[in-house]
Amino acid sequence: MSIIFEADVSLTHLKVCAQKNFSTLLASVRKISNEVAAVHAQDVDRQARFPVETLTALRKVEALSAAVPTSLGGAGCSLSELAQLCSTLAQGCGSSAMVLAMHFIQVGCIARHAQDDDFFKSYLRDLVKDQYLLGSMTSEVGTYGDTRSSICSIERTDDHFVLNKDATTGSYCAFADGILVTTRRDHDASANDQVLVLVRREDFNLQQTTSWDTLGMRGTSSPGFRMESSGAIKQIIPGPFADSSARTMVPYSHILWASLWWGIAADAVAKAASFVRAQAREKPGTIPPTATRLAEVSVQLETMKNNWQSAAQAFDAIEPDAVAQDQLSSMAWALRMNNLKMSCSEAAPQIVHRALQIVGIQGYKNDSPLSLGRQYRDALSASLMISNDRIAAKSASMLLVYKDAA
Ligand SMILES: Cc1cc2nc3c(=O)[nH]c(=O)nc-3n(C[C@H](O)[C@H](O)[C@H](O)COP(=O)(O)OP(=O)(O)OC[C@H]3O[C@@H](n4cnc5c(N)ncnc54)[C@H](O)[C@@H]3O)c2cc1C
Repeated sequence: MSIIFEADVSLTHLKVCAQKNFSTLLASVRKISNEVAAVHAQDVDRQARFPVETLTALRKVEALSAAVPTSLGGAGCSLSELAQLCSTLAQGCGSSAMVLAMHFIQVGCIARHAQDDDFFKSYLRDLVKDQYLLGSMTSEVGTYGDTRSSICSIERTDDHFVLNKDATTGSYCAFADGILVTTRRDHDASANDQVLVLVRREDFNLQQTTSWDTLGMRGTSSPGFRMESSGAIKQIIPGPFADSSARTMVPYSHILWASLWWGIAADAVAKAASFVRAQAREKPGTIPPTATRLAEVSVQLETMKNNWQSAAQAFDAIEPDAVAQDQLSSMAWALRMNNLKMSCSEAAPQIVHRALQIVGIQGYKNDSPLSLGRQYRDALSASLMISNDRIAAKSASMLLVYKDAA
């Protein structure tokens, strides 16, 4: 009895410590968002350059190992906590938050699907120590936004591989310490018989094939690349990509992206709110007409937040239960993720648009402190980043057979 009691106490103690560490990390990321990311956001956007100052600051507070389990030296953050970090950073700079989110997605894939493997355990420990930044190469010339099919394949000789890929879009790959690459399992495998391979900086050569002069998310630095790489077979994440995609890559992507799109929208609404308050101060005792618009857009912003937060909490509730993990491969969960992605990616630019109607010309100007140009352009990427049409088509085919238990 006393042993159980002691175990309970130490578990509670661990939980309290983890919460304390997370509060400290969140406070640091909030400071970085306000004092670094927001300060450089305009220049990052104008020059379409990697947000190097923000990433340096994130490394200093060890934010890049937030998704690594505590047993390997990381902060062991839950998905809800990672989403809070991304949404906080997005209020300073959307591109920086997208870089952080994409990095967390890759770390999540390794931590959740390879943490029993000696090579990956040691890699994650090194990631904590050296604050590696991980990028992603799922898109490919010929398959485009269909992450669940590949043309390239692993060529194996003994315990080594060669992997070459022509990617349409590779965010911050030129700045990454490692890239997780989707590929066919081998030369004879079908397009969707894929594995995920960790290719480290010393393993790859990149040749940039396209430019990244986009409307928004310019700081993600995401041109196309032809990658040539080779490495050891142990760098292949164990198990099929079908599993790591359904159980980690898709939920992490859609929840973390939704949280940062919300952060961009929240930044726009905060600017609108400051505009309305300034109007109110000009005529004390009156409520400016824009205040009603602010009340209306706040409803949409809160609905969006509830949407990603509840999905993150649902994921965190499933996460520790090995049996319940199967839910993550169910049609119900896949539909929930698709719905989250489609609704939040549509809501973000709508909210920024409504904030712009409140602020008016001061929001339309690029050189005004209330400018909403960057937020608007960044939010427009949401529905394209894995095309909503492609996602809707997948949901449509599932809905032909899926009957909601409720
Ligand atoms: C900011 C940003 C960062 C990115 N970073 C990365 C990265 O780091 N790594 C990476 O691999 N990729 C990255 N991508 C690429 C992304 O993952 C998608 O691959 C890409 O946005 C899809 O490109 P696409 O619209 O040309 O392709 P597609 O998805 O093929 O869409 C092309 C057109 O076909 C239509 N379409 C597609 N399927 C259907 C369908 N079933 N029904 C009807 N219409 C359909 C679409 O609406 C669209 O008009 C990034 C994208 C963005 C915007």
